[in-house]
Amino acid sequence: MTRSRLPPLSGAAGAQTGADVVLADKGYTGASGATASVGTGIWHVDDVPELREAAMASREALGGFLADRDWMARVLDETHARMDELARVQRYPFPVDAQGRQLRGGLQGPDYMRRQRTRVRRLGVRILDHTPALELLTDADGVVSGARVLDRPTGETVRIQAAAVVLAAGGCAFQSKTLGCDVNTGDGALLAVEAGARLSGMEFSNAYAIAPKGTSLTSDARLRPRRRRRSGDRATGQLPDLLPVRGVLPDRRAVRRPAGDRGRSGLALA
Ligand SMILES: Cc1cc2nc3c(=O)[nH]c(=O)nc-3n(C[C@H](O)[C@H](O)[C@H](O)COP(=O)(O)OP(=O)(O)OC[C@H]3O[C@@H](n4cnc5c(N)ncnc54)[C@H](O)[C@@H]3O)c2cc1C
Repeated sequence: MTRSRLPPLSGAAGAQTGADVVLADKGYTGASGATASVGTGIWHVDDVPELREAAMASREALGGFLADRDWMARVLDETHARMDELARVQRYPFPVDAQGRQLRGGLQGPDYMRRQRTRVRRLGVRILDHTPALELLTDADGVVSGARVLDRPTGETVRIQAAAVVLAAGGCAFQSKTLGCDVNTGDGALLAVEAGARLSGMEFSNAYAIAPKGTSLTSDARLRPRRRRRSGDRATGQLPDLLPVRGVLPDRRAVRRPAGDRGRSGLALA
């Protein structure tokens, strides 16, 4: 999949407006969630009309021609801006090509999420790790006005009042055990529904495909200590291929990728 998403930015965006922001995370912000432990492909396209047009056209068939061009353009804009910010502000070490141009088509989850955590802390966001949100609070008019969270270290539940609440608790991985997704139990959707929201488009929910143990969806390059690196292509920024040292990988010839698999005063519940 190639989309850009930098989870703790809801907290950062709120703090940049001068708001007093609390970020409550069920896990440990920066190491929790789907992207934190894996390498991530980014749909980064240079800001050149012809390139953007070609990039959008190339995705339309994959999406059964259901894609909305306006949304695609917004995703491209946002991705371009965020990658630029990540390079300039957070000094993410993108690999470079032979001409010294940064290649922004991929990120290493542990590296960029660590930078995201540092950034939101520097912006003054109060991070509450290991603090799952249990329910949204509503005022007499039914407007969401905060959340009740569990402070796991003490076992106490705490009410946090806020003028705005951002739900960024990830999707639902249906306990598939996919890397990084053990925290993705659909809490955000449930909290929203309990507060009166109506969900749409749920028929497009997609659990990651069944993945053989030891392949890229169940373990990241950094988490495979018993492999040696083949010379990799630093210039293009591709992750080097990883070769099994003692045959711990399944026979890749027997593994077929499924079609299409290439591929916050505010409170942020992230
Ligand atoms: C194996 C794999 C490969 C992927 N590859 C790509 C890719 O190449 N390119 C791409 O663009 N996307 C990719 N994705 C998808 C991408 O990682 C996700 O879409 C993205 O991380 C979702 O971001 P998020 O902030 O919504 O959720 P997450 O990053 O999952 O973060 C959710 C956060 O909410 C917290 N949380 C959950 N419940 C609660 C609660 N009750 N209270 C408080 N906090 C809570 C969690 O602890 C976590 O920190 C991949 C996903 C997987 C699993």
